[in-house]
Formats: sequence, structure tokens, C-alpha cells
Amino acid sequence: MEFDLIARHFTRATPGAVLGVGDDCALLAPTPGMQLAVSSDMLLEGRHFSPQDSPAGIGHKSLAVNLSDLAAMGATPRWATLSIALPEADDAWLTAFARGFFRMADMHGIELVGGDTTRGALTISITVMGEVPPGQALRRDGAKAGDDVWVSGVIGSAALALAYRQGRLFMEQIDAARVLPALYLPTPRVELGIALRGIAASAIDISDGLLGDLGHILQRSQVGAILEFAALPTLPVTQAYLHEKVARDCVLAGGDDYELCFTAPANRRDAVATVAQSAGVAVTRIGRITAEPELTVIGTDGQPLPFDHTGYDHFAA
Ligand code: ADP
Ligand code: MG
Repeated sequence: MEFDLIARHFTRATPGAVLGVGDDCALLAPTPGMQLAVSSDMLLEGRHFSPQDSPAGIGHKSLAVNLSDLAAMGATPRWATLSIALPEADDAWLTAFARGFFRMADMHGIELVGGDTTRGALTISITVMGEVPPGQALRRDGAKAGDDVWVSGVIGSAALALAYRQGRLFMEQIDAARVLPALYLPTPRVELGIALRGIAASAIDISDGLLGDLGHILQRSQVGAILEFAALPTLPVTQAYLHEKVARDCVLAGGDDYELCFTAPANRRDAVATVAQSAGVAVTRIGRITAEPELTVIGTDGQPLPFDHTGYDHFAA
């Protein structure tokens, strides 16, 4: 059953690979002189998606979150492997999953070159490979005091949608409909990441919440930051719920946004604006990097906000 299933659902032409699905290994020939950027993300039923979620959406999201890591590195997507465990060979489920997966793959020039398929609790593990010119990767350790802190798109929407789904926040249905796509169909900022090569000093994608993920940049770069809460880009619908603490937490510490948070020298503001515009993504300046290794968020009253969450920790109690 397995060969048949792989042939039917996961075997496509791979003109960018020497050898794709079907042998013991794929054979890849990276562009001479480029560095390979490699990243894996695993998605588990019950933790990253629920059994009722649409299989096409799961296919989309599982590749999107991996592509987001390439975006945050400034890498050009090339290849992926897909390892999937599923309880039974459900043809309709796999057809829809593959549709969502390959739609995202085609959008970003990813070729599926291999993987593994086995029976078990639904688990999806993807490895993506991309290319970046030597020295131009957007690393976490490049932030310098005085840099601007930027974020792409809007943040908090996915977490707001999750809070609504889990019954932790009441929202009007029409409002919920505006945030749910952020949770189920995230957009990796691949084009923006590539365009920020040579401009951004550091970057990360927001998967575990703004404060936690920016915290990784600060830690690796041995700097701090001051952010303005009022400057954080959110959807109007998010604004409408900001009187609720859970909504404020979603904006500061909510996961699953897959936007880019990056820093750039203040004299590169015009360059950032120009490349963001050509990538078709809004970017917002939300604060600046400081030499003091502390992360402060200034509230609308001009006072530092107290916060307890610094991101989603899978191993927290
Ligand atoms: P092996 O026993 O050598 O691990 P498999 O039977 O697991 O081989 O896989 C056969 C081929 O199909 C290999 O080239 C493998 O990379 C590919 N493959 C298996 N599962 C997937 C999948 N889910 N997506 C893409 N390629 C897959
Ligand atoms: Mg195998």
C-alpha cells in the first residue's frame, strides 16, 4: 500500500533536483557558491492541529511554518522532505492534504524530493532546504544597539483565533471570521526575507509570540529593546478586543503569526520600506534595540507594561 500511496500522492516532477522521490536517497545539486539553509518542523495532531481541521489546511500550514523558517533566514526555498505518520491510508484525506501542501510548494518554488510514510498517530514532519549567498543569512545574533525593530504584517490574529476556538475569548462570529485565516492559513514571508538580505541586521519568524521570539534575538545578540505597545500592528478587529487582557496577551505573546520580526540600522529605513513594498508586505517600526539587555514594552500611558508571558513553551506545566 505504501509505494502506491507515495506514488499517487507525493510523486511529482522535480526538475530542480538530480533525483527526486523513489530511490534510497534524493540527489540534490545546490547552486555552486551558495550556502544551504536547512530547517525541520514537526506538527502533531492534538497539539498543532485538531482532527476536525481540513486536511488541505493542514497541508498548507505544515509547509508554511517550515517555509517561514527559510524566510526568517533570508533563504530561497528549494527542496523539502515530508515524513508523515497516519492511522490509516485515507485516500480522500491524503488527496486534500497533498493539494494544500503542493499549492504552498508551487507558490514558493519548493520541490518535494523524499520523505517517509508510516502508520501511526497523525504526525507530519517536514524538512525544508533553501539557499542563501555566503554571509547574507539573516541570523539572530546580528542586532546592534540603535537598530530599529520591525515587524511584518499584523500580529496577534492567530492567537486571538485560537483563544476564540478554545472558548477563552468571546468574539462575535463576524469578527472571528476575520482572524481565523491567520490561524489556519498562515502566509510565510519568503519574498520579504530574501529582499531583506544585506539590509536587516537580524531576523526571526514569530512562531511562539513576539516577546519570546524577539527575546531570542536579544539573547543571541546580547542587547535589549524598547517597544511601543501602541505601535504594534494589529487588525482592527484585534483592536476592538484589546480591553480584554487575553487579547493584549495575544498581541504580545501569542504564537502562530509567522510574521517576520527583524532589526535594521536606522539609516536603512528607506531601504526597508522599499523592499517591503516590492514584496507586497506591510512592515511597521515597533521600537529600537538598546545596549541594556532588557526588554521593555511602553504602554499607551507611557509606563512600562507588566507582562508575564514570554512565549509558548511546549514543556511548561
Ligand atoms: P526506504 O525504505 O528506502 O526508506 P520508502 O519506502 O520509505 O523507502 O520510500 C520510498 C521512496 O519514497 C523514497 O524515495 C522516499 O524518499 C519517498 N517517500 C516516502 N514517503 C514519502 C512522502 N510522504 N513524501 C515524499 N516522498 C516520500
Ligand atoms: Mg522509509
